[in-house]
Amino acid sequence: MVENNWPAIIYFTALAFLTGAAGGSFINCLSWRMVRAECVMKGRSRCPSCGNTLGVLDLIPVFSWIFLRGRCRFCRAAIPFRYLWSETLMGTVAVSLLFRYGLSLKAIFYLIFTFILLGEALIDWEIYEIPDGFHLAAILWWCVYLPYSGEPVTERLTAGLMGGVSIAGGLRLLTTAFDRMLGKESMGGADIKLFFVTGLYLGFPGNLLNLIVSCIMGLILAALSSGQRKEREEPSLIPFAPAIAVGTWFCLLFGKWITSWYAGFF
Ligand SMILES: [Zn+2]
Repeated sequence: MVENNWPAIIYFTALAFLTGAAGGSFINCLSWRMVRAECVMKGRSRCPSCGNTLGVLDLIPVFSWIFLRGRCRFCRAAIPFRYLWSETLMGTVAVSLLFRYGLSLKAIFYLIFTFILLGEALIDWEIYEIPDGFHLAAILWWCVYLPYSGEPVTERLTAGLMGGVSIAGGLRLLTTAFDRMLGKESMGGADIKLFFVTGLYLGFPGNLLNLIVSCIMGLILAALSSGQRKEREEPSLIPFAPAIAVGTWFCLLFGKWITSWYAGFF
């Protein structure tokens, strides 16, 4: 970033946080409406309880939730906690990408990708499904960025496809074998598609690391939410997209260092 220019660093950090939080707020609202089969682009935001149109002051990411203490200004109905955490999380993601990739096209490219991942994670968490539209959006966004990646397009294209096909293909073979043996579904098809998508962005070594980190995250999330999910219909299935999303974020930040460190052993 701008070396040692503290006012500039503070300005861009704040700008990144607000951009990330605003994007997180939008994706949160979008996925909320998709799950409830509401029109995704229906005009201005309203309170789902009293129907009052929300003003600018109700819609500032993070700050509105805190100042209103998590309640609607009109009817005092509780605003779901996920608004606060998804906005805070995406603000943090944006700042982390800024520090990792600097003020660059690459940082913006990855930020948009993490917005898509947030949508997948939120919907999977609620209904154990990921609409194909999200995968498609991520693939299209990757294609749009290819010519601007700063690397030769064919090289980047091959690396991405290798990363996606190897991990998703390997998982498909493994799960088919396991499912035959156990007689039940071990991993959802949507999760495997998602590993194809993350492979495009991370390449082979990065996506392999992502698989490992996501499995660890999946176990942690399953342990944390076991009490809360007891009454759900399919207790054997855990939504895996949130774990993959966190794993991918981790790999976007540290993947290069870790993979080149373990490549050093061979
Ligand atoms: Zn209200």
